[in-house]
Amino acid sequence: MRWTSFIAARALVIAVCAPCLAACATGPGPVEPCPSTTVAASAGTDASESTKAPIDISVVERVGDKWEVTYRFAKPVMGIGFERGQHRFRYEHWNIAADDGATPVEWTEVEGREAIVASAPMHALTIRLVTDTSEKPSDYLVHAAFADGSRLFYTGHFAARPLVCKGTAPCEAKQVALADTLAPGDIEWHFATEAGRGIQILDRREPAKLDWSPTSGEHGDGTYVYFGNIESIQTPFGQMVVDPGLPKWMRESANTNIPKLLAWFAEATQTELTFKPVLFVSAPPDEEPGRYSKGGSLPGLIQLAAWGRGWKAETPETREAWVRFVAHELFHLWNGEMFDRRDNRADAWMSEGSSDYFSFAAARALGVIDDERQHRLLVQAANQCLLSVGSTPLAQARGRGNPEYSCGAMLWAFVDGIAREKKLDAGDVIGGVFARAASSDRRYGTSDVISELRRIGGEAKSIDTIERIVNQGLVSAADEVVRAQLAKAGIASERVAPSQASLDGARFSSLVGRELAVCDCDGRISFTGSDRGLDFDDVPECTLLKGVRVTALGKYALPADGANAFDALVTRDDKVPLELKVEGRRDPLRLSCRSAYRRLPFTKLLK
Ligand SMILES: [Zn+2]
Repeated sequence: MRWTSFIAARALVIAVCAPCLAACATGPGPVEPCPSTTVAASAGTDASESTKAPIDISVVERVGDKWEVTYRFAKPVMGIGFERGQHRFRYEHWNIAADDGATPVEWTEVEGREAIVASAPMHALTIRLVTDTSEKPSDYLVHAAFADGSRLFYTGHFAARPLVCKGTAPCEAKQVALADTLAPGDIEWHFATEAGRGIQILDRREPAKLDWSPTSGEHGDGTYVYFGNIESIQTPFGQMVVDPGLPKWMRESANTNIPKLLAWFAEATQTELTFKPVLFVSAPPDEEPGRYSKGGSLPGLIQLAAWGRGWKAETPETREAWVRFVAHELFHLWNGEMFDRRDNRADAWMSEGSSDYFSFAAARALGVIDDERQHRLLVQAANQCLLSVGSTPLAQARGRGNPEYSCGAMLWAFVDGIAREKKLDAGDVIGGVFARAASSDRRYGTSDVISELRRIGGEAKSIDTIERIVNQGLVSAADEVVRAQLAKAGIASERVAPSQASLDGARFSSLVGRELAVCDCDGRISFTGSDRGLDFDDVPECTLLKGVRVTALGKYALPADGANAFDALVTRDDKVPLELKVEGRRDPLRLSCRSAYRRLPFTKLLK
């Protein structure tokens, strides 16, 4: 397919203006003036030429951080539904227009996904947006910004499948359904930017325009496309595009430690990477206090971003944080790219937990932290796990406190303890899991770790403990179980009151609030903590804690005495109702937990 012709480019400039007008009428997002700059000549497409792929997507980067994404459909469609849907961010920020504004389109939701539906079958759809670097929790960014103006563009958020009419076309918005997901070969991507600016996909960089026809992977996974001119550094292990705005010490640390980390992971797991990854490291200009980072891995690449004033100075703390962050993401090349979890949710502890566990171990191996610090990190993870997962099976727990990370790291320490008795370590076990995955469908799950531990002859009781925590949850006296398992991995700790435990930034008052809500409310946890107490929202799921401000638990004021209140809460007698002081009431509220309530499975935490 040809992409450069004068007529085509001119046609596109005209086409750009029509969507602006249409967007005023249909798009809920801000309306922008039509761009006056002409697009790169390569951006146009000859409308008379039929596309061979079902969907042809052109992405044009314009001056001023503006983007125009045009879908051309080989056969007209009633709309599209986006593959990645957990965040509903598109409809507010993306302007849409179909067929140069001739076909009205609107935002909708189809089968739980953000979707765009047309009033009649459309041939082309144009989306206009500005660079969006806002956080998308547990998902990839739309764009990552570099200090020099380079940008990463994530194709996954634009991956979509056609909408089809359930009956005969055309049909109303209510009557559309998602078509089957597309295969990678069903889409052709065409990227363009201004002359003199590079575009890179994986290890391929070209000036001003680049065409891409993915041949493998899932359509919705996507990739990050780099727009900019930072030199791509070739190394024996792969390529790095490193933001010149990254503090010098972080650049140097990346240059020195990334090859070491990759070599250490390969050796520890006895598993060589079968590809050479590309690393994009960005440092968006940001003077916010504190330290922020965001990373992600995708087939063949790692994206790392670090921003905030807290990174500026090299201290033992920032040095450790940086290496652990980089190491965590690099280990995803093994546990997320070369191999992948079988069940996204139930096996998350294996990928996030192993990335955390092996990032601690690698930081230790590289001399960035010592044994003592490595052990403290694992004790902290164990405490975090006990607090966040409660008695919910880890395979089902999600959300608050991200138990897949903390419990996952803790369980890999348990794995290490079991392996040690056989003169092996956690690296040997995950290496065995990877080897098994390599000889089958490249996927792994909880049962593979359990099988590997049994294969090496690990102690049955400890293996059962891991299986139980994943599939059934922690039971009473979990603190002692966890302490004993950590000890087998050479990690000494003692059981202490929660307020004395090794915890990172625990806010005991809010832990108290959460437990009170779990006790009284069925499912929904809804309260706000302030310096005056805990404000429970008036929601129907709760019995007593409805629209009240709790200012004390027993004799402990909240939030001031939150630590003692939490200690008292985890050691209380179940048969005695909790006494809560509520603002505006003379008598205390006496709260008995609902019958389905299961108390926290510990009375102490670890130090
Ligand atoms: Zn991760």
